Amino acid sequence: MKIEHINDNFSVSDQIVIEDIQSLVDIGVTLIVCNRPDGEASDQAPFFELKEAADKLAVEIVLIAFKPGELTNELLMSFAAVVAKHKRVHAFCRTGSRSKVIYQRVENMNNKARSSVGENKFDVVIVGAGSGGIAVAASLRKRNKSLNIVLIEPSKDHYYQPGWTMVGGGIFDVQSTCRKTQDLIPTGVSWIRHSVSSFEPADNVVVLDDGSKISYQELIVAPGLKLDWAAIEGLEDALGKNGVTSNYRYDLAPYTWKLVQGMDKGKAIFTQPPMPIKCAGAPQKALYLSASEWFKSKKIKNIDIDFYNAGNVLFGVQAYVPALMSYIKKYQANLMFSHTLVKVDGESKIAWFKTRNAEGRDEVVEAEFDFLHVCPPQRAPDFIRDSELSDDVGWLDVDPSTLQHRRYANIWGVGDIINTSNAKTMAAARKQAPVVAQNVANVFANKEARVAYDGYGSCPLTVERGKIVLAEFTYGGTLAPSFPKWLNDGTKPTAFSWVLKANILPFIYWHAMLKGREWLASPM
Ligand code: FAD
Repeated sequence: MKIEHINDNFSVSDQIVIEDIQSLVDIGVTLIVCNRPDGEASDQAPFFELKEAADKLAVEIVLIAFKPGELTNELLMSFAAVVAKHKRVHAFCRTGSRSKVIYQRVENMNNKARSSVGENKFDVVIVGAGSGGIAVAASLRKRNKSLNIVLIEPSKDHYYQPGWTMVGGGIFDVQSTCRKTQDLIPTGVSWIRHSVSSFEPADNVVVLDDGSKISYQELIVAPGLKLDWAAIEGLEDALGKNGVTSNYRYDLAPYTWKLVQGMDKGKAIFTQPPMPIKCAGAPQKALYLSASEWFKSKKIKNIDIDFYNAGNVLFGVQAYVPALMSYIKKYQANLMFSHTLVKVDGESKIAWFKTRNAEGRDEVVEAEFDFLHVCPPQRAPDFIRDSELSDDVGWLDVDPSTLQHRRYANIWGVGDIINTSNAKTMAAARKQAPVVAQNVANVFANKEARVAYDGYGSCPLTVERGKIVLAEFTYGGTLAPSFPKWLNDGTKPTAFSWVLKANILPFIYWHAMLKGREWLASPM
């Protein structure tokens, strides 16, 4: 291996052999990037052998391979993302020159972003280009085309997360739930591919992960929430093997369906953490769709289903509970309320739950499983919790009606991050985005008027393949059906709601909500 040091943080070389990995670790390398494909030359070690050796030495190694002259933007983005997470990186290919090229291209890209970021001031800065962020950008742009709007979002991929329940149930293909962020940024809106790391609200500035600052006149905060996998001991290691899965991750939802199909008998456990979580119905939706498949294939008589729920009700709005209970009975599922998952051992297939015993004392109980579907605990992202914008428990502190920040009048919130009592759902973000867009547009038009969000949220509970209980409600759990009862009774399982979820809502998401078409969502 002939090492060439490009700078203190990055070096390149020609082919490496297994023994070289120790030398790289010795000089402080924490990430090795392989830029050549396997099988290019007869004397090269296959990637999997290098990976086995690197794993043993606890150094990360990734394959971002391309032939000379075939470097794509996608590879460039992957390289940039993985390199950004490490202080000392070594890349190699056959001669080292491809590794130099890809590094140089990423450096150029970063320099360009840094210089443009430094000089940029925007009328409106939006933090996060998820469901809420893109929707509000599109709705705002529709109202005022002269505004200089920027979305700040680190991810090159955008996900339709409501589709993951359907992926776990074998109905959707996982790829259909992901599109390139670039393709969804509304025309005329800029995108900065960085994360926001902190706020300086007194100076109307957000600080990015590279230290540069962006200033705004109005700020819209929409970074979603944090899935706190690490809060459960052993979970991160256990996921994706030994029957442990979760529909809350793009890469794992297909594994749920694989497990469901492969299960003939045994114990299936589904867990739900303390509220608030996004899509409060999703943990039990995973249960129903799995059970529906086992019911159809007549395997259910050999499968015990347990629902371990940290809360003490099946669903927060009572009107929907009878319909849900009828399915719990049909699938003979056991409801274990006030049980919070605290630890998982995937290899021995044991999960531990904290609960309170009959004498009122805390205790931890053990449960063996063959299949475990976990919904992780959820909280506000650290950069919001640690900021002046959060409430006492970390969420963005906004007025529940106008969605304006309670202390900073030029800051607004959309989506899962806000501390309102609505159900944290895409359906809620779909109604909130036009409200914030209208209120911000009014500020630029010097109008005092503010429109209001009523707390609408919706949860399509997939009780069996082909039927859904469509929960729709506003603040305080007041039922708010979108359709007249003769067409669809939301408190009952209906095929109509299934068609809506399986065929119509994804279309509305991609072609209406993210494009500023506010069907059934225009603010009053
Ligand atoms: P997100 O869509 O999560 O987007 C947040 C964005 O912010 C992300 O792109 C992220 O990369 C970015 N970001 C994070 N940190 C930063 C930072 N520091 N700087 C800049 N950007 C940042 N909803 C329904 O209505 N119906 C359903 O049936 C339904 N089912 C669901 C099933 C599952 C399994 C899951 C996981 C969710 C489901 N939801 C459902 C919930 C819905 O997906 C979310 O409520 C919705 O996506 C929230 O939108 P958001 O914009 O707040 O967050």
